[in-house]
This record gives sequence, C-alpha cells and structure tokens, in this order.
Amino acid sequence: MISKEVLKKVRKIEISTRGLVNDVFSPKVLESLPGSLAIGHTRYSTTGSSTGRNIQPIVVNYKSGALAVAHNGNLTNTAQLRSGMEREGSIFQTTTDTEIILHLIARSQEQLLENRLKEALSQVAGAYSLLLLSEDTFVAVRDPRGFRPLCIGAFEGATLMASESCAFDIMGGSYLRSLEPGEMVVVRNGEMESHRLPPAPEKTPCVFEFVYFARPDSRIYDEKVDKVRRRLGKYLAREHPAAADIVISVPDSSNTAALGYSSESGIRFEIGLIRNHYVGRTFIQPGQQQRDHEVRVKFNPVEGVLQDRSVVIIDDSIVRGTTSRKLVRMLRGAGAREIHLRISSPPVSWPCYYGVDIPTREELIASRMSVIEIQEYLEVDSLGYLSLEGMLEAAGEVGPMCSACFSGDYPVPITDELGKEVLEQ
Ligand code: SF4
Repeated sequence: MISKEVLKKVRKIEISTRGLVNDVFSPKVLESLPGSLAIGHTRYSTTGSSTGRNIQPIVVNYKSGALAVAHNGNLTNTAQLRSGMEREGSIFQTTTDTEIILHLIARSQEQLLENRLKEALSQVAGAYSLLLLSEDTFVAVRDPRGFRPLCIGAFEGATLMASESCAFDIMGGSYLRSLEPGEMVVVRNGEMESHRLPPAPEKTPCVFEFVYFARPDSRIYDEKVDKVRRRLGKYLAREHPAAADIVISVPDSSNTAALGYSSESGIRFEIGLIRNHYVGRTFIQPGQQQRDHEVRVKFNPVEGVLQDRSVVIIDDSIVRGTTSRKLVRMLRGAGAREIHLRISSPPVSWPCYYGVDIPTREELIASRMSVIEIQEYLEVDSLGYLSLEGMLEAAGEVGPMCSACFSGDYPVPITDELGKEVLEQ
C-alpha cells in the first residue's frame, strides 16, 4: 500500500534528487518507506529532457487514488496523442511520453486498474515494458511486439519483476520466466493473474539488448545473455579473422564477445584495458562534453600486455566513433604494434525510436562514412563488423527481432502530431 506520507516522501526524492541509486536511496531513506509493494526505475532520458520532473517512477493522484508508473521504452505516437489531449485541455507535468499513459488511464471509465490500462494501451503504439503500482495492485505489462525485456522472479513468497534477471540474483531471489510479448501480469492480494493484450502482427524484441545493454549474467527473453554474446564473438571471428598475438576487449560490455572471439580464433585473450568502475557507461551520458571527459578517465591501457603486440580489440558497437578513436590512440600510446578492431554487431546507421538513446543520423558515424572510411578515421590497421545475418543467428531461438538501428527497417512507424508517418531517412 502507498500511504499519503510515503507518497509525499517519494515525490520529494523524485523532484529534488538525481544520481546513482545508492546516493538517492540511502539506507535511511529506504527504512523510512513502509509498505509491501514498491517499484523503482533508473531510466535515462530517451524522450523529454533530463530534468527532475521526468525522473521515474512518475507518481500521481487521480480519482481512483495514488498511481505510480515506470516505463522502459518509447511510445511512437506521442506527438499525436499529446497534442490531441492538450487541445482538449489536459495539462502535462513532464515532457515524457510515459505521462500520456497516465492521462489515458485517468480518462478511462473502467473500474479495475488492469482494465483502465488495457483501454489506455489500445491507444498507444511503440515500445513499453511498464510497471504500475496503485494502492492495492501491482501490474507489469510488455507491449505486444515485446521490444523491451521484462521478467518475473520470486523471493520468499513475493513476486518480483525486472528488466533483467540479475536483479533477482542480487537479492537472493529466483528467476521464473520472461513475460510474453503482450502479456499483462496483475498482482492483487497476493494473487497473480495473467492477461493478454491484442496480439501484434509480429514479435520484435530488441536485438541490441543482447549486443550491449543487458548484463551477461542476466536472462532476457528467456535466453542467457552470456551464451548469445559469446556466439556474437564466435561468429565475428569466423566472418573477420585476424592474424594477431592477443585478443582484448573494451570492458565490460565486450568481455564476453571477446572470449567468444578468442575461443573460436584460438588467439589468446588478455586484459589490455582496465576500466574505472566509478564512472558510468559513456554512451548513457546525455551531453557530448560530459562524454569526452568520461572516456579519458574511464579506461587505462595495460602497457605490459600491449607493448609491441598485434592486438585484436573487440567492441560491441560503434555509435559516434569518438570513444573508439580515443581508445585506439591510447592503445598505440601503450605500444601496440598493430590494432585490428572487430565489432560484434553491424554498423549502427539509424536512430532508435523504441527506447535506446541513439538520437540522430548525423551523430552516427556509420551513416556518414563507409567501413573503409571509418577504419581510416579510427586509425586502425583493419576493421570488421559482424553481419546482420550473423548477429540475428547468434540471438538463437528468440525468433524475429527488431534490428532497425542496423538495417533501417522499422517495425512500427513513428508518427507526428497529425498521425503522419515520419522517419528520419
Ligand atoms: Fe533495439 Fe535498435 Fe530496434 Fe532500438 S532500433 S529497439 S536499439 S534493435
């Protein structure tokens, strides 16, 4: 249950505080939150700006009481829905797409939260894995295409939901299963019910989760990320072999793919770069200036490993190319004789409209340059990307997947205020 006092406290934390979970939710803050239901979210801005108001979960009060929502993904008909609601007099507190779902829930005449939510979701399009919490009900739902992951776990008789199963491991819980695309799970009074949204023509979970986002100790879409990521490295070694002394990774996201490359190629794996764990993922930092600074302090080369060696370096993707260029210079500075860069995904040439922060084509190096030009820009001796086919085959049993940022083939159209399709081409 969310009491009014708790709501006040949560709201206060939301609006005034940004930072790492540990900094925001100190033991003192956590101990002060009574109740048996809770949701949380570390969402980075993929729509709307990085302001306190947009921090999730968003908590509101409406005619049926308090309601909190956390949203992983991006809606694709936001402009149209929002401008329509604003014309009718709605006032928005945030600039995120997620608030639209709350407005649609509040407008519904249904009684039960799950029915209100179903009605709301029938009007939105795009990617959403959602957690909602009312005063007595907990709902988890995954969009019918299943763009973003969401799974169920258990801990001492309690139900857990998370994007990645490693969250369950951390607290000693167990993994049960992935929510199906289009599945809605409702937990009320300790009882769990599964509902279905109308099916999509095709399921298209995000392949980039396997390439970069998900942790290798997680399961997403009922697949072990570690296994898929090793296969990405193996297939990369088959497609782009290199005559080199050692294989190194860009830690941590490329460690597993580098092991796959090493085992397939027979080239020894070494730790050639040390990552400073007190700095977050560079890709997630919202501004370029911040990102540049993070790269400089994030990695340090190991000279004893690199000196006079021919090196294969594995990275999961190249987005802007700025990090890779700096890393290559760092490796040269540490004495590497040859550098062969291998990427365990195809060139990222298109933005993502489904919840990953790849905003414009202009920023993507692969949309402006050919592979040879990128090789020259990065000053590497050779460059090889895994093929689209190789990446999708490595993903295994999942079936069709979204790979739009690599292929430009968008499974759900993005519409403007008038509902007209707009795709950045
Ligand atoms: Fe994932 Fe790329 Fe599709 Fe976005 S466009 S959902 S990052 S595969």
